[in-house]
Amino acid sequence: QIVTRIAPSPTGFMHIGTARAALFNWLYARGRGGKFLLRIEDTDRERSTDEATQAILNGLTWLGLDWDGDAVSQFARADRHADIANEMLASGAAYKCFSTQEEIQAFREAARAEGKSTLFQSPWRDADATTHPDAPYVVRLRAPRDGATVVNDEIQGEVTFQNANLDDMVLLRSDGTPTYMLAVVVDDHDMGVTHVIRGDDHLNNAARQIQIYNAMSWPLPVYAHMPLVHGDDGKKLSKRHGATGVEEYRDMGYPAAAMRNYLTRLGWSHGDDEFFSDEQARAWFDLSGIGKAPARLDMKKLNNISGQHMAAADDAALLHEYKEYLAGLGQNLPNADKEAQLAQAMCFLKQSAKTFEQLTEKSWFIFAERPLSYEPKSAKALNNVSRGILSELTPHLQNVSWNRDALEAAATAVAEAHEIGLGKIAAPLRAALAGRTATPSVFDMMLVIGRDETIARIADAIA
Ligand code: GLU
Repeated sequence: QIVTRIAPSPTGFMHIGTARAALFNWLYARGRGGKFLLRIEDTDRERSTDEATQAILNGLTWLGLDWDGDAVSQFARADRHADIANEMLASGAAYKCFSTQEEIQAFREAARAEGKSTLFQSPWRDADATTHPDAPYVVRLRAPRDGATVVNDEIQGEVTFQNANLDDMVLLRSDGTPTYMLAVVVDDHDMGVTHVIRGDDHLNNAARQIQIYNAMSWPLPVYAHMPLVHGDDGKKLSKRHGATGVEEYRDMGYPAAAMRNYLTRLGWSHGDDEFFSDEQARAWFDLSGIGKAPARLDMKKLNNISGQHMAAADDAALLHEYKEYLAGLGQNLPNADKEAQLAQAMCFLKQSAKTFEQLTEKSWFIFAERPLSYEPKSAKALNNVSRGILSELTPHLQNVSWNRDALEAAATAVAEAHEIGLGKIAAPLRAALAGRTATPSVFDMMLVIGRDETIARIADAIA
């Protein structure tokens, strides 16, 4: 069975690159009947915070990336890591190194002076075990000195590291705590991880981790190190490119399905397919589709995909997700009537809104309270002439049956009487109904807010 995982360090917000790595691992497992696990790499006690862990859980939950079983705390497994280090000591795969920081420093300086490699070579590697002093020590891996360690990577190909360039890494610190390198390998092994799909900033670590697997005679996982996400200028993604945190995208109002679709395309491709469903993504996703060049974050493309997802979504489901979005911003819909109107309007709102943020703008006419405040452009559309025309429209609206054809016929009749185009009526009508210019069509708005509210808003506008 395929087992993948995401292993974030809880040291800040959840980066969009972490979300993408989680998504790739989730897709790979879910498309193959496998498991997707979550491990919180909280060994660094100084930098790890509960808020950051919560941000990771929230981010994954929002994105719909469900993990199997409970989240594993790496820190909670420190005893197990130490046990393995001690097993390696017993087997000779590791050794106790009593060299002090000063001694290591001196070794490096001497090596530098002689123009030799400054990679530390512990004198304790080959020391007689019985001569160990009663002093603090670290546990080091007895790494191979000759030959090479090869990472057979599904994306990077065969990457060779000369063992002469890899020192005997520390596995346990002098206070008995495990190092990151040891913890990752022991955890991945114990969790049964078969595929490690992560950023290529971990490629060097893979070589070191393979040495630990080999020392324990554990089978290696399949490795896939993917290029990191870059900004639109091709440089590594950072704050100055815009949003880097998952929660920022949620708050900007991208539906989770749109975000999944976009992030799946960020560095992975399947022919020319841009817009696809979760089912398609799960069926199509494969490591061979991951590119070797860094993917560039492209907000235009994200907006485009997001708009397509909004338009294709089920109205009721979209309303439900919109309410969750609002709740995330600490807002909610004022009452059941307004919610019903929004539900009615969803079929056309979703055609033009690319995000929930835009949905809020486009649905403003539903929630606007009388008397409306008019934006300057709308205020201008309400002059003496247009007010006169609106006042003539009112009696028609009092009697007409409230459907699109009848409303259009009423407006057309008034326009024809004045020998003007329908647009000349639509502009002041739009101003009266919404107080803004960027709105759905006037007939859509009238149908949703109903006869009484329509007539009342027109009355306000011509008063
Ligand atoms: N904790 C590491 C990180 O957040 C990931 C380690 C891994 O995926 O092996 O970058």
